[in-house]
Amino acid sequence: MMNYPLTTKSILERAKMLYAKKEIVCRDYSGMFRYNYGQFYERTCRLANTLEGLGVKRGERVATLAWNTHRHLELYLAVPTMGCVLHTLNLRLFPDQLIYVINHAEDRVIMVDQDLLPLLEAIKDKLTTVKHFVIMNDTAELPQTALSPAHSYEKLLAEASPAYNFPSDLDEWSPAAMCYTTATTGDPKGVVYTHRAILLHSLSCLSTDMMGLSERDTVMAVVPMFHANAWGMPFTATWTGSKQVFPGSRPDPAILCQLIQDEKVTMTAGVPTIWMGILQVAEKVKYDFSSVKGFICGGSAIPLALMKAYDEKLGVPVIHAYGMTETTPLVTLSRTKSYMDQWPEDQQYTIRVKQGVVAPGLELKIVGENGEDLPHDGKTMGELLIRGPWIAGEYYKNPEKSAECMKDGWLHTNDIATIDEEGYIFICDRTKDLIKSGGEWISSVDMENTIMAHPAVAEAAVIAMPHEKWDERPMACVVLKPDYAGKTTEEDIKSFLDGKMAKWMLPDKVLFIEEIPKTSVGKFNKKELRKLYL
Ligand code: AMP
Repeated sequence: MMNYPLTTKSILERAKMLYAKKEIVCRDYSGMFRYNYGQFYERTCRLANTLEGLGVKRGERVATLAWNTHRHLELYLAVPTMGCVLHTLNLRLFPDQLIYVINHAEDRVIMVDQDLLPLLEAIKDKLTTVKHFVIMNDTAELPQTALSPAHSYEKLLAEASPAYNFPSDLDEWSPAAMCYTTATTGDPKGVVYTHRAILLHSLSCLSTDMMGLSERDTVMAVVPMFHANAWGMPFTATWTGSKQVFPGSRPDPAILCQLIQDEKVTMTAGVPTIWMGILQVAEKVKYDFSSVKGFICGGSAIPLALMKAYDEKLGVPVIHAYGMTETTPLVTLSRTKSYMDQWPEDQQYTIRVKQGVVAPGLELKIVGENGEDLPHDGKTMGELLIRGPWIAGEYYKNPEKSAECMKDGWLHTNDIATIDEEGYIFICDRTKDLIKSGGEWISSVDMENTIMAHPAVAEAAVIAMPHEKWDERPMACVVLKPDYAGKTTEEDIKSFLDGKMAKWMLPDKVLFIEEIPKTSVGKFNKKELRKLYL
């Protein structure tokens, strides 16, 4: 076979050659912006010329601090394809973490959305490697800013040449993008994605039993583009020439519902808290979701009650998926197999609510405390280990953490899982969130999801309380739906759980709270919860 490198150039050039007429839509600051892949390609050329003009060299990092927008998509494709590295900054990091990741990655240029300027202005004096700031909004006017030197994205692009020869000599093993995990302890850890990893990940995502995107799809990534490549959607959707929709700055559930209806979105992806918010809105206001083929839900476990509510109330299937920043990120996705169509509905739900089967190209297993392989019986719990061509082999400039998590050729996920006879994995918990009561494990996720099936409950998170005799006991922190506040008691929740799980597992305490704190990517923040309530 030919020695042909797998690089993002093939994604970009294919989109230009085949899909020049296909549309890309963005909710921009002053209204809806529409253009096509042909115009998009020209702007990626202008962008590459602009970055060269700013002195960015091959292999250097170009950071983005941005919402999901068409400009962010231009950066997603132009930066790696010209041989530089796209570093997506999480806009919800604390200032100290932002300073750390920008300096650690040695970012040369930061491309920042206008309404996020204050985040950078507050830390600008601590950034040691940044040479330019480029501000993104929908005019060529430079807004007032304390950043220097600062440029307008639109002005630079308007002045740049529309012709650019993206290089053909990039090595597929060269870095294309990077992202830092939002570690709950210690500094964030950097993961570098090679061109090869992104391309193979995209191919695997494209298969029908995984995301199965096609030219006929309209794709809207709700998952932030700063989080693990927006689960690969911008790359895969560009490769297939799907229409893409970008929700722009600070989208709320009502805005997302409107976009799904108006743009006839067929496929989106996001964390469970997003789908909880959308369900609450869509239950009150009727939207037309008839175009939707599926909402992909990942990042944390989906409660069965939420999955059922989407089927019953909105007629939209939610498809469960699992991955990590370290895994580019898709590892598993849950669709039933053809012969399961004959199974009773409840049995199908037990499959759909699991995290799914391994993506083509990856390998996984569960191991016990001494590293021994555990059986695939759907019951035995062990740590999930993963390997494959888009799984990180190390953390960026962090040999200590690399040695801890990447051992013997496997990524050690710290997730406790079972694998059943059909090959479906079920994530029981993070190792640190499992509750160890009298030597037995209680899955906090399992209990949360059972509580969230109670009609009065909006959200629930379960954490371990220290206990003299049993070591740890579960405490459930529950947010009630507004109509039920003050009317539902601790006893109501406990008796709802009784019979659904063993008596000894029932929570010692049910605490009603106003809100469950969320992490920077919208997951329940149990570390913060422990700090607040223990
Ligand atoms: P991040 O790198 O921020 O995307 O976090 C990855 C972690 O999120 C995983 O190690 C899991 O603990 C958790 N996670 C991701 N997807 C799921 C899922 N579908 N169900 C349960 N946990 C998940």
